[in-house]
Amino acid sequence: MLNRFVSMNLQFDSNRAIGYKSGSQISRVITEGWISDNMYCPICGAPILSHYTANKPVADFYCDECSSDFELKSRESKTSHIGRTIADGAYRTMIERITSSRNPNLFVMTYSDWAVNNLMLIPNHFFTPAIIEKRPPLKDTAQRAGWVGCNIEIGDIPQSGRIFIVKNSVPEDKHKVIDLYNRSLSLRTDSMDSRGWLLDVLKCVERIPFKSFTLNQVYAFEVELQVKHPGNNFVKDKIRQQLQLLRDKGFIEFTSRGNYRKII
Ligand SMILES: [Zn+2]
Repeated sequence: MLNRFVSMNLQFDSNRAIGYKSGSQISRVITEGWISDNMYCPICGAPILSHYTANKPVADFYCDECSSDFELKSRESKTSHIGRTIADGAYRTMIERITSSRNPNLFVMTYSDWAVNNLMLIPNHFFTPAIIEKRPPLKDTAQRAGWVGCNIEIGDIPQSGRIFIVKNSVPEDKHKVIDLYNRSLSLRTDSMDSRGWLLDVLKCVERIPFKSFTLNQVYAFEVELQVKHPGNNFVKDKIRQQLQLLRDKGFIEFTSRGNYRKII
């Protein structure tokens, strides 16, 4: 039997669109069909994912072996990049969902000419309210006047939480994907507050364009972090605490007093 990874076919199955008229329905059936036909579980490596029956509100797919849930967001795009944001549904539903214990993992797909260009896994433990951007309410003239949607700010998620499965039309090695997922687990925390601090400070560290950096370079993000965490007046203390956690988790090392180095 052929290994499904070796045979990963990036083309959509056009037969799945037969009988559908609207563009949004067609894009849903072809992209979800592609996941059913081609995608393995990026968490435990099981060869297939199962589709939830229609209108299941929590997620689109699940893994029979490890019980993980997955939601798919896809967008047609001519550019090869995945983009910095992706539109999602209602803002309030999204915030409720990411703070719940059954928050699904997210697949972000971009495609063009009936083929997958990019597919990224964002593990559920990388979702924080800070990466959900509220869109302006729909105008009074709109059918759903007052409805508030949201965007997921993919660009604000640390590197470890953006795991490519297909990049620029090339599938990544399945074992590499699973290894990256397992490595990202060290960033999982219990409370939403500690998740926010850890991921926000990691993102600041990633934005420093050097492998070696100083405590003062991270302190430069103090005002920005204060805005994200208005309830905390001891931002510098929090920064030092998160740097220690990132050291304990193997993402950075302390080289000398006030000096650090990124490990990955
Ligand atoms: Zn699984």
